[in-house]
Amino acid sequence: MDEIIRIRGLKKSFGTKEVLKGVDLDIIKGKTTVILGLSGSGKSTIIKHIVRLLKPDSGEVWVEGVDMARADEDEVYRMRKKIGYLFQSGALFDSMNVYENVAFPLHEHTNMSEEQIQKKVRERLRTVGLNPDDVLELYPDELSGGMRKRVGLARSIVLDPGIILYDEPTSGLDPITSDLITRLIRNTQQELNVTSVLISHDIKESFKAGDYFAFLYDGKIIEYGDKEHFQNSTNPYVRQFLDGKA
Ligand code: ADP
Ligand code: MG
Repeated sequence: MDEIIRIRGLKKSFGTKEVLKGVDLDIIKGKTTVILGLSGSGKSTIIKHIVRLLKPDSGEVWVEGVDMARADEDEVYRMRKKIGYLFQSGALFDSMNVYENVAFPLHEHTNMSEEQIQKKVRERLRTVGLNPDDVLELYPDELSGGMRKRVGLARSIVLDPGIILYDEPTSGLDPITSDLITRLIRNTQQELNVTSVLISHDIKESFKAGDYFAFLYDGKIIEYGDKEHFQNSTNPYVRQFLDGKA
């Protein structure tokens, strides 16, 4: 198997609370891997290590052969350009309109001309199903929840990253909008041929988008496999989660 991310023995505590107790996880290139687990189990904490928003207490976080736990600042900067990150809050900059929000990473990380940037921003808004002419001038508070997620998604793919991390992209959305965003993630994955890591507590949604599934419980990945493997899991914690009793 061709793993683009390889996490080994990842441990992280906040104060006296040991959240990650030795996470081992491989992310396969060109596929979507879903990290499942209860709220507060440490899913966001795992992916924050992939972009080095957090440093582990111990363990290794290899991304394309670079250990993000030990990379120097230049390397972290270089790697972050290759990784799109859609935050749990989906946070857009409130004081910037849609154009400025989506263009932000291009201004930050490239030497592209304003004309090239405009072209790219329009292209990526179309990728997420928005008509640029309708939305470019709007501010986040003028957008619906679903549109904000789309704009956030456009921003996270504007640098053509090879890897995209989605932290609960459908949380807080109604079922129909959730379904749309999930399809969009699937389409984006296929159109751009990226590797995706998707955090979800919604098992049904995630089955529509994921190729592989990892279940985080008590600080460790206790189940991993494809959809069929997962659905047939005999692990009691996984079963509770699958049957909606967790
Ligand atoms: P999940 O994404 O699975 O809901 P998180 O990774 O956000 O879980 O959080 C796991 C646990 O770690 C929670 O108990 C949370 O309160 C705690 N935690 C996360 N980040 C911090 C932080 N920066 N400081 C202190 N505690 C944190
Ligand atoms: Mg989280």
